[in-house]
Amino acid sequence: MDIKQQAASHPEAAIGTRVVWGGEQVQHPYNATQTPIVASAAYGYDDIDKWYDVALGKEPGFIYSRMSNPTVAVLENKLCELERAESAVAFSTGMAAISGVLHTFLSHGQRVVSTRDSYGGTNKIFEEFLPRMGVDVMLCDTADMDALEREIAKGCNVLYLETPTNPTLKIVDIRRLVAAAKRVGALVIADNTFATPLNQNPLALGVDVVVHSATKFLSGHGDVLGGVVCGAESLMAQVRHYREINGASLDPFSAYLIIRGIKTLALRLRQQQASAQLLAEYLCTEPMVETVNYPGLPQHPGHAIACSQMSGFGAIASFVLVGGMPTVTRLLPLLKYAHRAGNLGAVETIYGPARTTSHVENTLEERQALGICEGLVRVSVGIEDAADLLADLQQAFAAIRSQPGQAGLHVLSAQRPIEVSA
Ligand SMILES: *Cc1c(COP(=O)(O)O)cnc(C)c1O
Repeated sequence: MDIKQQAASHPEAAIGTRVVWGGEQVQHPYNATQTPIVASAAYGYDDIDKWYDVALGKEPGFIYSRMSNPTVAVLENKLCELERAESAVAFSTGMAAISGVLHTFLSHGQRVVSTRDSYGGTNKIFEEFLPRMGVDVMLCDTADMDALEREIAKGCNVLYLETPTNPTLKIVDIRRLVAAAKRVGALVIADNTFATPLNQNPLALGVDVVVHSATKFLSGHGDVLGGVVCGAESLMAQVRHYREINGASLDPFSAYLIIRGIKTLALRLRQQQASAQLLAEYLCTEPMVETVNYPGLPQHPGHAIACSQMSGFGAIASFVLVGGMPTVTRLLPLLKYAHRAGNLGAVETIYGPARTTSHVENTLEERQALGICEGLVRVSVGIEDAADLLADLQQAFAAIRSQPGQAGLHVLSAQRPIEVSA
């Protein structure tokens, strides 16, 4: 059985249709309509010659689930459909995917250019692990496209991008940096987790390799971990080889949950990003909020570029509370429709400060160097009714305003409370 050959492909269909039908097998055992969870470590062969041919890749088939698994293969095909990629490779987590890709394409003595605002775990790979294996890492100010272009022009093997960024929602100009990378022959990798394939397709903008944390919007229900990498088959063959040997393969149960989640991706995200826009606009009017980061706001510094490379602005926003951490500590417990947790992209709304979510791996000093204030709260907007989410935020701010003078927060005027150093 060749999973890739039997995969349904609907390149003509819109993404709301491709998430449902794309990559699925045309026929399942027992005429089941859903992808089976194939829970088998290995696959048996009476014909020893055929077994050898499958092992050599001369014939389609499966040998051992660290190398490939029929359920995982359906997920990989589905990702190809969503990102319009030739090939995809699934990993046990998003970080395994990112680590796998960076280790596949970087060796001792090579150079990688990236931005300071990547996901906290990714930042750790750049700061801690890659230098240890002799890779020269250059991290630039995320908003400074000129500086990025200059560093790329000095020569590099890999350019690694993430846009929008976590948790400050900065927008990186993909086309412009891809052009700079191509001039020096660098491979371009992009983390598309925040945008999702619904809003942004980096391969169409010239990126070579796209990575996703499937833990987030793809699976959408906060109940599974996974990662996926996609791009040209010549590149994915190298990534697959790395995964086979290093072993961070995805298990079929998780693959099944991610496949199931992806089917509602378009439906979920349309609702989630409409609500995110509404909440972001409200937060701009809230006196206890200093800054609002959401690319869908016209005043967002990356709004014009976001409009040129994204078809929607996503469901994540972040905001800085007046009064810093003491205000965060008071506000978040007052919310009714919220998990306070280190995840995002689920059907429930999730709030969390950067210091316990995206940048929990970093020290206070490191966060400050990255420009992440202690009062920064990230919100991943869920599928709940938008009016309820808005009312929830409003009642929480109203409750804080009615009990002034606590936790280092003094209300000097009814309009704008300010921080008083303790
Ligand atoms: C969560 C996340 C990751 C890491 O994914 P895991 O599945 O948690 O390993 C990588 N990049 C971004 C942008 C993320 O939000």
